[in-house]
Amino acid sequence: MHKLARLDHRYVWHPFTQMRDWLAREPIVLVAGRGAVLRDVRGREYLDANASIWTNLHGHNHPRINAAIRRQLGKVAHSSALGFANEPASLLAARLVAAANRPYAECEMRSADSSMAARPKAVAQEAGRQSPLSRVFFSDDGSTAMEVALKLAYEFARRTGRSRRPRFLSLASAYHGDTVGAVSLGHIDLFHRAYAGLLFKSDTVMAPYCYRCPFNRAKPERADARDYRRCNWECVAKVEQQFTAQQRRGDPYAALVVEPLVQGAGGMIAQPAGWLRQVVQIARGHGAQFIADEVMTGFGRTGTSKSEVRSAKSEILFACQHEGVLPDFLAVAKGLTGGYLPMAATLTTPAVFDAFLGDYAEFKTFFHGHSFTANQLGAAAALASLDLLHSAASAQARRRLEAALAPALSKLWPLPNVGDIRRVGLVAGIELVKDWRTREPFDLRDRVGIRVCEAMARRGVLTRPIGNVIVLMPPYCATPAQADRMVEVLRRGIVEVLGRRR
Ligand SMILES: *Cc1c(COP(=O)(O)O)cnc(C)c1O
Repeated sequence: MHKLARLDHRYVWHPFTQMRDWLAREPIVLVAGRGAVLRDVRGREYLDANASIWTNLHGHNHPRINAAIRRQLGKVAHSSALGFANEPASLLAARLVAAANRPYAECEMRSADSSMAARPKAVAQEAGRQSPLSRVFFSDDGSTAMEVALKLAYEFARRTGRSRRPRFLSLASAYHGDTVGAVSLGHIDLFHRAYAGLLFKSDTVMAPYCYRCPFNRAKPERADARDYRRCNWECVAKVEQQFTAQQRRGDPYAALVVEPLVQGAGGMIAQPAGWLRQVVQIARGHGAQFIADEVMTGFGRTGTSKSEVRSAKSEILFACQHEGVLPDFLAVAKGLTGGYLPMAATLTTPAVFDAFLGDYAEFKTFFHGHSFTANQLGAAAALASLDLLHSAASAQARRRLEAALAPALSKLWPLPNVGDIRRVGLVAGIELVKDWRTREPFDLRDRVGIRVCEAMARRGVLTRPIGNVIVLMPPYCATPAQADRMVEVLRRGIVEVLGRRR
């Protein structure tokens, strides 16, 4: 075993990992990366098929981001946001606010144009009612970005007299991070049950999981279940019922919390078009706020929009924007720095900000912060990443990659153990089942997802499963050929572990 692997085995405790299994085999020790490729200590190369747990956007060792970090490093690496402003964080906050509001502002400006399609009109109407995201609170991780949103929404609901003990509604299989507040909003039994005694109670409502929806009357087909489902939007009605019931109890929800377009850690559960817009309207109709957890979906991950992209400048970077909704809180992290450094942000509205203004002695201050809040190196990396995202070359590369990924994935349908293939932009979840005709799931104890990913790693493609769902999330710099290879290696991995037929 390599010396570094031995040290890992002796001293490191890995996240979300059964360490007994981990210690049973030599770990891959990564030492370098370039573009979509990672290299281990033995010189073997791998494709980074989940973008290093959904963080990396433009590839590893990107010259522009490297240069930006080096430039900042030559000035100062970190100074405290407690009491001081800094250059890259000020610039970044302004850029994030512009990016979060841009498509709405443009749609409003163009709303006189009668040729506008239905979707931009909805965007404009929504934006007309909803105030823009105008303030940025920096932190370090997705979990902390969600803690900040949670605390702000809680305090906002109390200060505006909406509720004395504000309650939150989130989705079945929601994942919003691993700190105690974020866990309280989550509803993945496997992860969260153990800590039930430590958590505050949040309510849950059914997620739009078309493939396993009890209201979907369609027989299994060889297609994304969202495209052949037969239902009456019962999932939306459930949200309405939940809000109405809570209102009747005299304690309306403070906020609805959602990962827009696709629930990541829940199993890459992709929402049918229109779901988000409807549930946000319901929440707003009941006076609740909307907290969008875009920790995974942010920064172009959910795809370039077809109709609305007229110039690189108007490009959609956030999942909410595809559905024309503007949240009251927007939490971003993973891809914020292009996947280089831990940094996160929570954007919110003037109304929320104003609720924390007052004379010092009123103690309305938001008493929350972290040592590395607004870290200068992270902010410099994030600025460089945003520059890349807004470049025409990046938008074009992403469109090309999306166009390659879709047909590549469809080559998996002949496998009898592929039940559903859900793709949203550059996120794909492939759900493995015992038999596609019955949708019967594998027992988690069989570790089917883990075994398939191990087989893929042996063939030089790295990713991580969520139970029986295999995730493909290439960095944006991946070439169409690399995307093809990721899918082909997945196909071979499935065949190796499960065979070609039942
Ligand atoms: C990863 C993730 C988080 C938590 O982010 P960390 O940086 O791991 O703390 C929260 N929400 C979503 C949707 C995520 O994917």
